[in-house]
Amino acid sequence: MKMIDLMHSKNIIVFVLLSLSFPSWASNDKSSFEITDPPNCSNNNGESVIFTNIRNSNISSAAGMASRDNDGLPVVYRFSYHKSSESLQRFIDLHECAHHQTGDIDLPHPPRNSQAHMMNESISDCIATLRIRDEYEEGQSILKSAISELETAMNEMGFPSTSVGSRISNISNCFEKKETAQEFIEGVLEFRGLN
Ligand SMILES: [Zn+2]
Repeated sequence: MKMIDLMHSKNIIVFVLLSLSFPSWASNDKSSFEITDPPNCSNNNGESVIFTNIRNSNISSAAGMASRDNDGLPVVYRFSYHKSSESLQRFIDLHECAHHQTGDIDLPHPPRNSQAHMMNESISDCIATLRIRDEYEEGQSILKSAISELETAMNEMGFPSTSVGSRISNISNCFEKKETAQEFIEGVLEFRGLN
């Protein structure tokens, strides 16, 4: 038993050393995308939002989190953006930015997976969708590849297919809206009494 454990840990050490000696191996796999410049983003009080890259996390896809940092400044943490394409990076940036634009960050956080929480997520997806549509050349194709990557990542993470499906249909419906992201944001702020 002991012998096997030893062998096992020895193999792990060898593997780690090999991957350190040949970092170029990594460029053939998923973990090699360039990290895009962050979008323009300020919150509902006009404060600029800071974007911070965090590379050393164990997740398999890019992910984001909107918050305030220790100094109280609005921030978007960009986890492992090098693991996903430019399209998905942009979508996540704009989604997290939207949580700042709509004032979510300074409101009490609704319980996880509650109706109110899901509503906030749908609103952020919608704003990200409208911004990609209107602010980027080739917006439609950026969105298309972001959606398909998002779908794969959510399936890999074990989200139920119904929630993946409803997220994607919400994004598709938003793409067809007649209003701009700014008009949509103003509507949300007005509803919340924040403007
Ligand atoms: Zn969100």
